[in-house]
Amino acid sequence: MTATKEQPVLLHNFNAGPSILPKTVFEQAAAAILNFEQSGLSILEFGHRTPEFTAVMAEARGLLRELMHLDENHEVLFLHGGASTQFMQVPMNLLDAKESAAYTDTDVWGAKAIKEARLFGKVDVVCSSKEKNYNFIPKDFAVPNDAKYLHITTNNTIYGTQWQKIPRTSNSMVADMSSDILSRVLDFNSFDLIYAGAQKNLGAAGVNIVVVNKNILGKIKRAIPTMMDYRNHIKEDSMLNTPPVFAIYVCLLNLRWVKAQGGVAALEKRNIEKAALLYREIDENPLFTGTAAKEDRSKMNVCFVMEDPLMEERFEAFARTRGIVAIRGHRSVGGFRASLYNALPLSSVEVLVQAMRDFSNSLN
Ligand SMILES: *Cc1c(COP(=O)(O)O)cnc(C)c1O
Repeated sequence: MTATKEQPVLLHNFNAGPSILPKTVFEQAAAAILNFEQSGLSILEFGHRTPEFTAVMAEARGLLRELMHLDENHEVLFLHGGASTQFMQVPMNLLDAKESAAYTDTDVWGAKAIKEARLFGKVDVVCSSKEKNYNFIPKDFAVPNDAKYLHITTNNTIYGTQWQKIPRTSNSMVADMSSDILSRVLDFNSFDLIYAGAQKNLGAAGVNIVVVNKNILGKIKRAIPTMMDYRNHIKEDSMLNTPPVFAIYVCLLNLRWVKAQGGVAALEKRNIEKAALLYREIDENPLFTGTAAKEDRSKMNVCFVMEDPLMEERFEAFARTRGIVAIRGHRSVGGFRASLYNALPLSSVEVLVQAMRDFSNSLN
C-alpha cells in the first residue's frame, strides 16, 4: 500500500466498536482463514465439535479464567446475540415476576437494560444521571436490601464515564462490562454475573462472554427457553448449538496477546498513561472541552467537544491527514470520542495529541 494524501499508510483507529485489535491478532486470524493450524482447512469451514476447535474453546475459557482470576463458582460462557441479548437474558434467568432488581441509569445502554428487565420483573432505578446528559456517575444512592441484584454498566461507552469505584452493597452484583473488560484490575469474583460484547476489548463482533456464578442460577420459577437458559450453556461448554467459531477464535488470539503483555494489570498501567495524556491536552488546550465530570472520566472512551461545529469538522479533516480515524462522537453527544481500548498503542494517542496542538497553532 502506498501513502496518499487521503489514505496514510498507518491509521490510528479510535473507533468505539468494533474496534482496534493487535496487529498480530489480525495476521494470525487471516492466516487461519486460509489454513487453520496446518489442517489444510479454513477456520470458516471447520467443525465446531472437532478436537481442534474444542481445544480452542477450552483455551479461550481457561485464559479468561486466568486473566480474571476467577474462582471455581464462576463459569465462563461464549454466547451469541451481543451484549444487547444479555439485557433480556439476565432478568429472564435471575428475576421472578414478583421480585425486583435495582438498576443504575448511567447511559443509553443501561437504559436499554432497564427497558428489557421490566418485561420480566419489577425494576427499581436507584440512580440516574440522565438529566445531565449522562455526564457523571451518581454517588449517593441506596439499594433496597431485597433487590435481587444491582445492575451497573461499568464503563459508559457513549458518554465517556466510568465507575472508578464499584459500589459496595450486600446485593448480588451484575455488570455490563462491554467496553472496559480486561482494561483494569477488578475483583471479578465479587460479581455474580458479568457480560460483555467482544467487539470492544476482547475480539471480533459476533460473540459475547458471560461470566456467571453458577450458585445464583435455578432460583426462579419461570420456564426458560432452552437457548436462553445459562445452565444449558454451562452443561454443554458453550456448544449448545453452533457457536460463533471464528469470533471465538479471534477472542482466543487476543486473550493470548493480553497474557503476553503481562495481563490485565500491565494493560491497566498503559491505559492510565494513555488516558492521562489525552485528558491533559483536553484540559490545557482552550480549543477543546471534556464533556464528562472529571472524577468520573472513562479511561476507555474520551469524549470532548469544540465550541463551533464548523471548527469540529475542520479538526476532524485535519486529524484525518495524520491518519486519525473514527473520532466522531456518538450521534447523541456530538463532538468527539476517542476510544483508547487495550490494543490502541500509546503512540496513536501521541499522534492525536500532537494533531490537537498543531491544529491550535495553525489558527494563530
Ligand atoms: C456496545 C455496548 C453494548 C451493545 O453491545 P452489542 O454487542 O452490540 O449488543 C452494550 N453495552 C455497552 C456498555 C456497550 O458499550
